[in-house]
Amino acid sequence: MNYIIKTIQGCNLSCIYCYEQSHNRLNLALGLDDATRFIQKVADYYLRNNPQEILAFHWHGGEPMLMGADFFEQIIRFQTGVLGTRLRWYNTMQSNLTLLDDAFIELLERYGSCLTLGISFDFFGDDRVDGSNKNVNARVWKNVRRLQSAGIHTSFLTTLTRGNVEHLDEIYDLLRSQDASIQFNQVFGAPKKRPFNRPSVRLRNTQFSAALQRITRRWLDDGGARLRLINADRVMRKLLDPMSTRMCWYEKTCLECHMAICADGAVFPCDSFYVKDFSYGNILHDPYERILSSKPRKALLAAQKKGQLECRGCEFADYCNGGCPTRSIFSMPRTELHLGKDPLCAMHRGLFEMIGQHLIRAGRGKPARAGWRQVER
Ligand code: SF4
Ligand code: SF4
Ligand code: SF4
Repeated sequence: MNYIIKTIQGCNLSCIYCYEQSHNRLNLALGLDDATRFIQKVADYYLRNNPQEILAFHWHGGEPMLMGADFFEQIIRFQTGVLGTRLRWYNTMQSNLTLLDDAFIELLERYGSCLTLGISFDFFGDDRVDGSNKNVNARVWKNVRRLQSAGIHTSFLTTLTRGNVEHLDEIYDLLRSQDASIQFNQVFGAPKKRPFNRPSVRLRNTQFSAALQRITRRWLDDGGARLRLINADRVMRKLLDPMSTRMCWYEKTCLECHMAICADGAVFPCDSFYVKDFSYGNILHDPYERILSSKPRKALLAAQKKGQLECRGCEFADYCNGGCPTRSIFSMPRTELHLGKDPLCAMHRGLFEMIGQHLIRAGRGKPARAGWRQVER
């Protein structure tokens, strides 16, 4: 089970495309007592009902580093005591990296086996700014170098926008010889508040899709790259093992194994799905069983299953599983609970086709059925 935790609904930045702005204004933090209560509750449930479960705690925000390194040290100590080796578990933190200090570097060094860091960074463009509208790219890059000097793996989550898409090859060149990884995302939804003199930064689906396919082609043809392109790598893993669950977009039951936890304990389907009608309850007050069997959750799981019927006949259906249902629901008029195929369908098709052919050429595939040749596992 993946818990995406809004550790703090507050941020020191004010990025142009941030879809968390209304949450961040609350400036609400998850207390240590509440965090440990939540961990204890899920630990009790899975130790009793399914000790095979892997618990993934994803500490997001706002900006989680605002909580200070000591908060996370206490969390990990608590997890070690409660979960120990009786359950498999790990933590990730998603940060804008502007607040990195020695204490966080020490924390990441000490607990590298159960805590990894994702860095939200766009490399170019003026979309990531602080409260005074000052570009923070140089500050983040300086902190990236500090992490690299300390031997800590750098994994980037980069939003492709109109401000950096022209620099895609420069980003690639900068990282290609490093033991780094990068995932490209599209701006989620429409920014609620945009400075009046700025055009939208969001790439259209076709633009995002073309950019991602182009850089994937480059990565596949580049035998010498040490960089891991996460979007492509996960398609590859999915083709080699359809049961692989490394990227939620391609999980058949992504909504079954994801939950977002707000700082006040409110539970939602995932971090891009904070809609009041879809609240599952409150992790601090409700029994976990009640959250799992809540009506909105059951309705969403059924809708996801039904929506995937739209992909019948697609040769990649067993691998792609319809993509991300959130993108689908937010692209439709909200008249009914409809979780059809992902509006980025063409991009998924292109990636599966391109990477599938690559695997076949590399001798890892064989003809299976018309239109598509299944890769060997
Ligand atoms: S760092 Fe993240 S949460 Fe903070 S303003 Fe930027 S996009 Fe929003
Ligand atoms: S709805 Fe989309 S973002 Fe949320 S868990 Fe599923 S695939 Fe991931
Ligand atoms: S590629 Fe498109 S049609 Fe095929 S499974 Fe994915 S979203 Fe559905």
